[in-house]
Formats: sequence, structure tokens, C-alpha cells
Amino acid sequence: MNNNIFQELIQAYRENKLAHAFLIETNDKEKSYHSLLQFLKILNCPDEYKEGCSNCNLCHLIDTNSLPSLLTVYPDGINIKKEQILEVKRAFQTKPVFSKYNMYIIMDAENLNSSSANTMLKFLEEPEDSIIGFFITNNKENVIDTIKSRCQILLDYYNVDVSMQIPSALKELAISYVKEIETSKMETILYNRDILLPEIKDKKTLFYLFESLLDIYRNLFFTVQNLEELKGEYKEFKYLLKKDVKYFERKVDLIMEILDEINYNLNISLVLDRFVLEGGDS
Ligand SMILES: [Zn+2]
Repeated sequence: MNNNIFQELIQAYRENKLAHAFLIETNDKEKSYHSLLQFLKILNCPDEYKEGCSNCNLCHLIDTNSLPSLLTVYPDGINIKKEQILEVKRAFQTKPVFSKYNMYIIMDAENLNSSSANTMLKFLEEPEDSIIGFFITNNKENVIDTIKSRCQILLDYYNVDVSMQIPSALKELAISYVKEIETSKMETILYNRDILLPEIKDKKTLFYLFESLLDIYRNLFFTVQNLEELKGEYKEFKYLLKKDVKYFERKVDLIMEILDEINYNLNISLVLDRFVLEGGDS
């Protein structure tokens, strides 16, 4: 595990202070899920857990996603449905057989609506020692309050390495776009329509563009705080470093929100315009 939030949980577990519900905000749900599974192995492994334990049946069942007392719920369509939560409840009416805990993981917890969240509440309000739950989201602010207020909140952030996967043409497009947006905001809606839209033909390309924008603004955000060096390819944005950290923080937050929205919103033009309209100085 490369991050320490789960180390803290292990510590809490050893001190018998482990909470029974956690809301994990992360910028990489897949990595976070994987780290969480490692943690659950440590929690349940009947042997003294060693990295990559494959000796015991329990760790093997977690690896192969076939442990009956570990249930992962993904949104069915856009929402997590009440019926999916009822299934977890039914499965957890009996104490676990192989593991110490009955464990549930709710992926994309922002997609719990009020009826599925209400169904969830029994677990959260009358916690049983043998049940432990995790809600994973990339923005805790979008998670319904009834859930959020009953969870211990954890932040599980990873360094993003976009250089491996994003086509260089798109990274260059992102650089030109930042140049445009930071200098002539008034015209950027037109720039969206005339220059960007013809290049952005599908969601995947749009996603890459915003991942590239995220990399640029995160690098600026960290550089302003003297936590990183300005990357060579972004040297031309040196003049932006006189802006304060809040400015870049807002941009990073907005881009994270938009990246999330791209999963559901197919209107590329609206997504681009939102970035311009909400991303300016305020
Ligand atoms: Zn094991």
C-alpha cells in the first residue's frame, strides 16, 4: 500500500477503535478499491498477514471476489437502487462464517439516492460489531448528508501520471487551451465552438482533454505552494504563478467535478462552456 490512510485504520483496529462506516474520497477509485481490499485482508486474515498473502483461503477468496461476507455494490444504471441495499441487508442477517466481519463496499456513493440511503441507515444507526462498511466517491460533497454525517471521512489521493496514456496531440491542445482561457476569456466560448469542438469527437477525447487540464492546473497549484517544480512543458505558464493558491484550487476542483460529470453528460459543448463560465476569477 502506497498510502497511509489504511495504515491508520490498521492502527485503530489494533487499538479496538475502528469505526464501522467510512466514506473514502479519492481521485482514483480503482486504486482506492484495491488498497481497501488489501486492508480487508489484513483485517480478516487468520494468519499473520504478509504482503500478498496467498496461503490462506480467506485472502484467496477476497482476491477472487468470492467471499460471501464481502459485497461490493456498483450503481445499477445511474443510481444505486434500494433493492441493491436490501440484498446486502439480507445477506448480512447472519454472522460471517469465514471472516471476522460482514463487509460492504458502496462504489460511487454519490449515486445513493434518498430511498437507497434511507435503507442504508439501519447499518449506520444501529451498528453491529460484525458489520463494517465503506463508501467510495470522488467527491464527498456529492454524497447525501444522511450517509456522510454517519461516516468517518478518509481522503485517499494518488499522484496522477497522465503522461503514460494521453495522446501528445491532446496534451498540446490542453496547453493551447489554457493559454487561450487565461488570456482572452471573453472569446473562449467562441474558441470552444470553433477550435475545440471539431477536435473533441467523443467522450474519451473530452476526458483526456480534462485529464490534461487537471495535470496542468495541479502542477500550477502545487508549484505556487512550493511543493512541486513547474514542469518543463508548462514553463510558459510561469506568469500565472503570481495568482494565489485559491485560484488554482478552484480550477482543480472544477475540473474534478467536470471529469465526474463527463461520465453522465454527453453534451460536449455544454461541458466545455461550463469550464469557461465557472472557471473565471470570482
Ligand atoms: Zn491471508
